[in-house]
Amino acid sequence: MTRTVRSTCPYCGTGCGVLLTPTDTGLDVKGDPDHPANFGRLCSKGSALGETVGLGSRLMSPQVDGADSDWDSALQLVADKFSDTLAEHGPDSVAFYLSGQLLTEDYYVANKLIKGFMGSANVDTNSRLCMASTVAGHKRAFGTDTVPQTYEDIEEADLVVLVGSNLAWCHPVLYQRLLAAREKHGTKIVVIDPRRTATCDAADLHLPLASGSDVALFNHLLTQLYENGALDAEYLANVNGFDEALHTAFCSDVSVTGLDPRDIKTFCDLFTRTEKTVTLFSQGVNQSSSGADKVNAILNCHLATGRIGKPGCGPLSITGQPNAMGGREVGGLANMLACHLDLENAEHRAAVRGFWNAPAMPEAAGLKAVDMFRAVGTGQIKALWIIHTNPAVSMPDAEAVRATIKGCDFVVVSDVTGATDTARLADVLLPATAWAEKDGSVTNTDRTISRQRAVLPAPGHARPDWDQLAEVGRRMGWKDAFDFISPAEIFREYAALSGIAAGFDRDFDISGLAELSDEGYAGLEPARWPISARRQGGRFFADGQFFHADGKAKMLAVSYRAPEAKTGPRYPFRLNTGRVRDQWHTMTRTALSPRLSAHLAEPFVEIHPTDARQLEIKSNDLVRLRSPQGQSILRARITDAVQTGSLFAPIHWTGETAPAARICDTIASVVDPVSGQPETKAAVVSATKY
Ligand code: SF4
Repeated sequence: MTRTVRSTCPYCGTGCGVLLTPTDTGLDVKGDPDHPANFGRLCSKGSALGETVGLGSRLMSPQVDGADSDWDSALQLVADKFSDTLAEHGPDSVAFYLSGQLLTEDYYVANKLIKGFMGSANVDTNSRLCMASTVAGHKRAFGTDTVPQTYEDIEEADLVVLVGSNLAWCHPVLYQRLLAAREKHGTKIVVIDPRRTATCDAADLHLPLASGSDVALFNHLLTQLYENGALDAEYLANVNGFDEALHTAFCSDVSVTGLDPRDIKTFCDLFTRTEKTVTLFSQGVNQSSSGADKVNAILNCHLATGRIGKPGCGPLSITGQPNAMGGREVGGLANMLACHLDLENAEHRAAVRGFWNAPAMPEAAGLKAVDMFRAVGTGQIKALWIIHTNPAVSMPDAEAVRATIKGCDFVVVSDVTGATDTARLADVLLPATAWAEKDGSVTNTDRTISRQRAVLPAPGHARPDWDQLAEVGRRMGWKDAFDFISPAEIFREYAALSGIAAGFDRDFDISGLAELSDEGYAGLEPARWPISARRQGGRFFADGQFFHADGKAKMLAVSYRAPEAKTGPRYPFRLNTGRVRDQWHTMTRTALSPRLSAHLAEPFVEIHPTDARQLEIKSNDLVRLRSPQGQSILRARITDAVQTGSLFAPIHWTGETAPAARICDTIASVVDPVSGQPETKAAVVSATKY
């Protein structure tokens, strides 16, 4: 009998619902008409999912030192090595590096094992490369990492401002929802992005600002909102820091944006007179050495006007990965604790420690991604477990990261394939179940928790990540704490912990699901948190109540800072990086679909015609980019979508698909001092014909 299962797409943070039906040749995939993220829509990547479930590249059994092994030997080796390393060198000598691709239940067990039982906060995730600046900005403004808005607000807004977001390619279904709303009631669209992307096709105004100058633009907007009487004095009574933020904004120089003053005025006038304004922001804001300040400059404008938490009105960060939000919620970052509690708050720590009955708990933040791999390189970290991510290609200064992983005493990699740059460096490779074989939950960009359901059998000896982690926990001596037998059981424990967190006046609360039966979990419908007796779904902050100790929000006084790396005679070009429409991350899944690979088949670099002429580079020539960190060789695409002096290259190609084209080899490991997020959109390079 044909069985159709409701699940979620494993790509972007939109979190679309899918209907999955196994067929003789694989999997039929359709959009779920009842899912509140997409109402049946899918983009090219989601609709090609059925083409990516073949087993050709799958890892089928554990491997130790490159040879086939069995689960008992491999997991005992992992448990023994981590136990010995902890005993000999202490908790700072171990680390986990996780992924926004993990399900919430996997993330919860990983975080519990390393923070509560190994006693180390050295757990970070590729979400650090994705939206850590937003987390920092939210916490500084609101007291918690709270997304105030919902997808419906995009449809209710009269003005949507997209900052550093190529929504048309990176979150296509949200873009379709925006265009459908514009068709109905004429929503105005402004795109703020150094590059003219596909998203600009529908824009009423495109502001091609200088790379990294967003703070100057939003500071100027704040002054214009003030001068034109658009501030909400009543709302500002619940906001600290207004005077200082405004004073700093007045000291800001908007000319650094390089924008035409008439365009700046058009934008400011539009924002000033449009009450129902949503500002969507994404990686162009986050992946910057001033990312957290950019986020706060945007939040300042919404707080000052009281345009937040209301229908059609507020800031909305668009996350890159399918479960980046779930990872934030379980505290899967080096500076966080589960359920939006703070690692460096003694009462919060004591509450979690008591709930877990944990023997150890770190008292300070652990190492964030860039510092974590540096510590691997110096030998401080001697045992590293990397789960569902490919840092050997995706980290900045990736060539150096490959060398540090190679030199680490003991590296475990859990993944669905052994054919990645990172997996090839592992001492122990553990075969994990893939998207269509996994059961658990994810949270999308607007706080909607959805179930991901298994529809295909696990091939070979593949096991779920939570199961691998729990087994290692048991083998390290913590049998009761890791006696999980199902994702439902993990979810209930997590939901119960959120009830304790809510007692500290935290936003994240799903305690209403703590008593969910196995059947209830199996049939759980998509639902936006909070889900508790106290509060259900909806928006945050329209009531002016925030999560700082005094209940008020905070506006931050932020000043423009140029990108860290400076162009000059040796490295005259500013290099921007990003995604293409039909590929995902390092292509381990999307490259399996011929249809997706046909869109843009080769790694490329976009060059402005004026620059190309000067460099005597023609369309389709090979171009060598060099930076102080390394080099990348790419096919030239000559286009005025990039500005003169700027280049753009996609992030996807790896040692497996195009070794010479690994773009992160050219990116410096410069980070935002507040969020620790690397500046992956503003490297400096030279460009020459190859
Ligand atoms: Fe999947 Fe994102 Fe496309 Fe939706 S918009 S189908 S979540 S990739």
